[in-house]
Amino acid sequence: MSPEIYHENDGNLSFLDGKLIGMIGYGNQGRSQALNMRDAGLKVIVGNRDDDYKKRAEDDEFDTYSIAETVKLADYLFLLIPDEIMKDVYKSEMLSNLKEKQAIIFASGYNIAFDLLEPPENIDVLLIAPRMIGIGVRERFLNKKGYFSFIGVHQDASGKAKEILLALAKAVGALSKAGIETSFKQEAVLDLFTEQAFGPGFGQILMNSINTLVGKGYPPEAVFVELVYSGEMSYTYEKMTEVGLINQMNYHSQTSQYGSISRAIKFRKVSKDIKELQQDVLENIESGEFAKEWEGKLSKIKFKLYKFFRTKIPFAKLENKARKNLDLPIVDLFEDIPYPKEEVIKEFEEIEKEIEDFKEFYKDF
Ligand code: NDP
Repeated sequence: MSPEIYHENDGNLSFLDGKLIGMIGYGNQGRSQALNMRDAGLKVIVGNRDDDYKKRAEDDEFDTYSIAETVKLADYLFLLIPDEIMKDVYKSEMLSNLKEKQAIIFASGYNIAFDLLEPPENIDVLLIAPRMIGIGVRERFLNKKGYFSFIGVHQDASGKAKEILLALAKAVGALSKAGIETSFKQEAVLDLFTEQAFGPGFGQILMNSINTLVGKGYPPEAVFVELVYSGEMSYTYEKMTEVGLINQMNYHSQTSQYGSISRAIKFRKVSKDIKELQQDVLENIESGEFAKEWEGKLSKIKFKLYKFFRTKIPFAKLENKARKNLDLPIVDLFEDIPYPKEEVIKEFEEIEKEIEDFKEFYKDF
């Protein structure tokens, strides 16, 4: 079934006349969206804890308040803080200050989709989720290139939720390419599926390709340039956006086209496995099992351990050496991650087997 798709002309800013926008959080999305809305002529204030992000908002000449004060003052509240802390901030600073007919706007469906946060029935609950990183939301607003968004209404207490949604989405720049209507659950599942079923699969193909070639004696520097650093792949992705996945093929040589189409069939076997794995991952997300796992007390320690193993693999050393020889900057974001203490691992005997599997798996990379 085709979704409703909205464009700039569908948003009417006069619905926001005299309304005050409260931006809660001034990070990646918060800053860009606040600046876009101000440029669109809206009155925006920023609610943040008293630290560097607040200072940044003040440097950008916004009036700043605490989160609780912002909830008291503003009509429409953009909740743009990390998803994993949202429900706690909502409970401690927002809930008791909410008023009838206010609206909360989320940039991710996650907390609502998996029932982690339940706003009262007398406010509007809206989704404006840019398919674009924060800096792109600002850049593409300024250079008028635009970006796609998923938008939706979860709760319509004012009776005007759709009009308010479209007006706010227009002001943020979220209708500039198109706003595609989705439920909060659809948005959240699409996002998580990309992260959990596409990302790891793509990563496996990429890392295996590099290891296969380097293992056969091809110079790592040439291999990394061929597969990643040349930018040819990201350029191909851009062309997919311009003309479509199938049609972009015409930009490649005849040899390239024949080779990749004729060899694709060899991957039939793994293709079946991939589909099955993706179904599993999708079901795990849709059922809310993933959200429950991530909420659980073991997940944060598991995350630390996974990250440790993930960042200490031989592949990381191989890549750093290649980058050094290519005069490319080496940014080790994970330099300081220490080996998890044995007593910490022991404390979590339940996941000992999982950790062993991880260690074993990453030895091959
Ligand atoms: P950020 O990590 O950039 O958020 C940082 C902001 O959150 C700062 O203002 C920070 O202020 C505040 N914050 C962090 N911890 C706390 C806390 N414990 N209490 C109160 N405030 C806190 O978030 P993003 O902009 O990346 O994400 C915001 C929303 O946008 C999320 O729902 C995300 O899923 C969604 N989204 C993000 C995209 C992206 O590209 N990043 C793309 C599309 C959607 P301080 O630490 O000073 O308190």
